[in-house]
Amino acid sequence: LSERLSGVFDKLTKQGALSEDDVKTALREVRVALLEADVSLPVARDFVKAVQDKATGQQVTKSVTPGQQVVKIVHDELKHVLAGDNEDPGELKIDNPPAPILMVGLQGSGKTTTTAKLALRLSQKSGKRVLMASLDTNRPAAMEQLAILGKQIGVDTLPIVKGEDPVAIAKRAKQQATLGGYDVYMLDTAGRLHIDEELIAQAAAVRDVANPRETLLVVDGLTGQDAVNVAENFDREIGVTGVVLTRMDGDGRGGAALSMRAVTGKPIKFVGLGEKMDALETFEPDRIAGRILGMGDIVALVEKAQETIEAEQAERMMKRFQKGQFNMNDLKMQLEQMIKMGGMEGLMGMMPGMKKMAAKAEEAGLDDRILKQQIALIQSMTKKERANPQLLQASRKKRIAKGAGMEVSDLNKLLKMQRQMGDMMKKMGKMGKGGMLKQAMR
Ligand code: GDP
Ligand code: MG
Repeated sequence: LSERLSGVFDKLTKQGALSEDDVKTALREVRVALLEADVSLPVARDFVKAVQDKATGQQVTKSVTPGQQVVKIVHDELKHVLAGDNEDPGELKIDNPPAPILMVGLQGSGKTTTTAKLALRLSQKSGKRVLMASLDTNRPAAMEQLAILGKQIGVDTLPIVKGEDPVAIAKRAKQQATLGGYDVYMLDTAGRLHIDEELIAQAAAVRDVANPRETLLVVDGLTGQDAVNVAENFDREIGVTGVVLTRMDGDGRGGAALSMRAVTGKPIKFVGLGEKMDALETFEPDRIAGRILGMGDIVALVEKAQETIEAEQAERMMKRFQKGQFNMNDLKMQLEQMIKMGGMEGLMGMMPGMKKMAAKAEEAGLDDRILKQQIALIQSMTKKERANPQLLQASRKKRIAKGAGMEVSDLNKLLKMQRQMGDMMKKMGKMGKGGMLKQAMR
């Protein structure tokens, strides 16, 4: 895939803003990448369309191609969709002990394994007392499986009573958790190969008894197109609070994650990365986005190029400031920064020893309105005048002031400011080898 892509990218090497054609060409490959990663067709289609609108017209970073730029935009958007407003994916609602956690999903998706992994995590990382209970009465070995895992990780399991139905087990688990002073009790339900009414009815009955704080849907990350269907069904019938994607240690590219997010909007909380008990990690949108797209190297390249250019620009500016070169373009940039950072006080307040000066500036009426007027004055100068403010003689001054709808005296104030700031920048540049100033310019 990478090879095919670089072929496409080679053809797109011009600079400037991304044209519709650039975006379309690159997105065609991205769409294939998404489908190959098992993202469901409608989700891939919608996603590509959304990116198309966003990307067209964006500036291409120097030293990367338009195609590469599009991949970076796609990556960021993927990350955005995957993360949603789920800022802390590893957090579970487990206050008010004993907090029930219900585990649901198809047979073989990894429910039992994930139950134990999560129990280990809760007891080790959060110091919670956890009780696990298997509600899987379909397969005789299933309850034993959880008991064995529990012994292995040192987490208690509810004693097995033969002949009990899942609802009765759930009731007993709740009772035991309350009496035993547990913080959390986990209910590992039975799954089936496909969603059917009986499975859903059973899970719903258990839910009604336990009233779970979290209902985690465990989904095999290798199931592609079907994942959406499963997630939709479980969510509609049982109500899901989060998703765990298992088998992400395999070859799968994890497209199920995107499909499920896009369709159900449920947060993905954890990712299973193996059969071992410690192979459970908090969901990281960045990593999964890279995996789905399979173009991590391109994304890194574009990021690096962007960083390098920013650093180069800052460096070049610093060098000029140190030499006392501070023209109207620089001043304009500083003024714009000030507006962004909440005025003069905001900017200078951050620099040591500048607080007093900031207060003075405020006194002198350097609020946003004034800043904008000053920018207007600079904008009415010619390119040459901006670069060489010493050119400004009486007639030019008159023209500029008039162009901005202001007085020559206003322009004189601006010129004074430019000289003073130039001096200040020079001093600061020498003082901290630019470190402080660079910081302030960020
Ligand atoms: P359940 O039927 O949903 O309870 O599924 P199990 O927890 O019994 O898991 C089924 C199989 O998948 C077991 O062999 C697990 O070891 C394996 N498994 C579960 N999670 C993962 C994972 O994240 N990675 C890998 N490679 N295997 C897993
Ligand atoms: Mg099981």
